[in-house]
Amino acid sequence: MWCARCGLISRMAHPEVMRPPAVPVVHVVWITAGLGCDGDTIAMTAATHPSIEDLVLGQLPGVPQVRLHNPVLAYEVGDAFLAFLRSAAAGQLDPFLLVVEGSIPNEKIKEEGYWAAMGTDPVTGQPITTCEWIDMLAPKAWAVIAAGTCATYGGIHAMAGNPTGCMGLADYLGWQWRSRAGIRIVCIPGCPVQPDNFTETLLYLLRQVAGQAPMIPLDEALRPTWLFAETVHEGCDRGGYYEQADFAAGYGSKTCIVKLGCWGPVVQCNVGKRGWMGGIGGCPNVGGVCIGCTMPGFPDKFMPFLDEPPGAKMSSSAVIMYGRTVRALRQFTQASLNREPSWRHPRSELTTGYLAPAKHGPAGSDGAGE
Ligand code: SF4
Ligand code: SF4
Repeated sequence: MWCARCGLISRMAHPEVMRPPAVPVVHVVWITAGLGCDGDTIAMTAATHPSIEDLVLGQLPGVPQVRLHNPVLAYEVGDAFLAFLRSAAAGQLDPFLLVVEGSIPNEKIKEEGYWAAMGTDPVTGQPITTCEWIDMLAPKAWAVIAAGTCATYGGIHAMAGNPTGCMGLADYLGWQWRSRAGIRIVCIPGCPVQPDNFTETLLYLLRQVAGQAPMIPLDEALRPTWLFAETVHEGCDRGGYYEQADFAAGYGSKTCIVKLGCWGPVVQCNVGKRGWMGGIGGCPNVGGVCIGCTMPGFPDKFMPFLDEPPGAKMSSSAVIMYGRTVRALRQFTQASLNREPSWRHPRSELTTGYLAPAKHGPAGSDGAGE
C-alpha cells in the first residue's frame, strides 16, 4: 500500500497515514414478530452478494462489521435474546439498524387481547406487542428497514377481508417518517425478499453509516431505486419470445408465459435479471408467472392469479402481427447466416475475390520494387 504523502510503500514510514479509518460495529436488530412466516429471514441466508456471513464476519474492507440480532438465527434465546432489544430501546446499542419482518397488525381495533407480541414486560408480566416494540425501537434506530412484502406494504395478511386490519410499516409509522439520521423507511419488498436485494441494501446503509455513501435513493414506494426501477419484463430471459409473439399455452414451455398470467411487463422487480440465488432462478426465468409481489397493490390487484392480466390481452394481441412477421423474417435471415460463404472450398481455384498486387501495378511494370 502506497503512502499518499511520500510515495513509499513502507508501512513503517507514516503509520498514521497508513492506518485505515476506524470502522464501527453496527448492530442489526431484527423483529420477526409481525404477521409473517419468517421467510425473509430464511431467504436472507441464501444471499451471496454479499452473504450475511461476509457482513457478520466483517469480511468487506472498510465496511462496518454487523452484529446480527435475529430471533431465528441468534444463539441466544428467551430473555437473553430480548436483552439486545431492551438495550436498543434504552439507547444503549448505538448505532443500530432496525429490520422489521411481517405486517403490522392494528392493535387499536381490539377490545382485549392482542394480535402479535414478543416477550413479556418484566413489571406487568403482560406480552409486549409488536407495535410496542416498533414504537420503542424505531425512534432510536439509525435507519429502519422493512424486509419483505408483509412489512413493506402489508402483503397477503393485509388483503381485503382480513380481520387484523394489518398494514405495512410505512402505513404504521407514516410515509413521511424519518429516522434520527434523517432516512426514510427503506422498503425491500418481495415475497420473500430476494436475498441479495436485502444484503445489498444493508451494505449500502452500512456504508452510509460509515460516511462512505450519500443518502440512499428511494422511489415513491420507498424502494431502493437501483433495485426496483425496471420491470421484470425488461430483464426476463423470455423477453425475446414475447417480442416475437411466441406465447406458451401451457407450463413446461421455454417461451413467454404472459398468457398464463405473468404480470412481468408492469411489475417493478429485478428478479428476472438478478435471478434468485447466486444468479440462478428468478420467477419467470424458471417458468413461474410473476404475480407482482414487490408492488404495494399486491395481492388484491393481481388476483385472480394465473389468469392472463387484462392489460396483457391487449398488448400481447398488438404484438402478434408484428412479432410473427419479424420472427418469419429472422428465420429467413438466420438460415442464411447459418451457411458458410461459398469461397470456402477445397477446389484448385481461389474464389475469395482476392486480387494479386502484380496484376494491379502501373502500366508496363511487373510490380517488383513497389
Ligand atoms: S414471461 Fe413475463 S416477464 Fe418474461 S417476457 Fe413473458 S411477460 Fe415478460
Ligand atoms: S418476479 Fe414477480 S413474483 Fe417473482 S419476486 Fe419479482 S415481483 Fe415477485
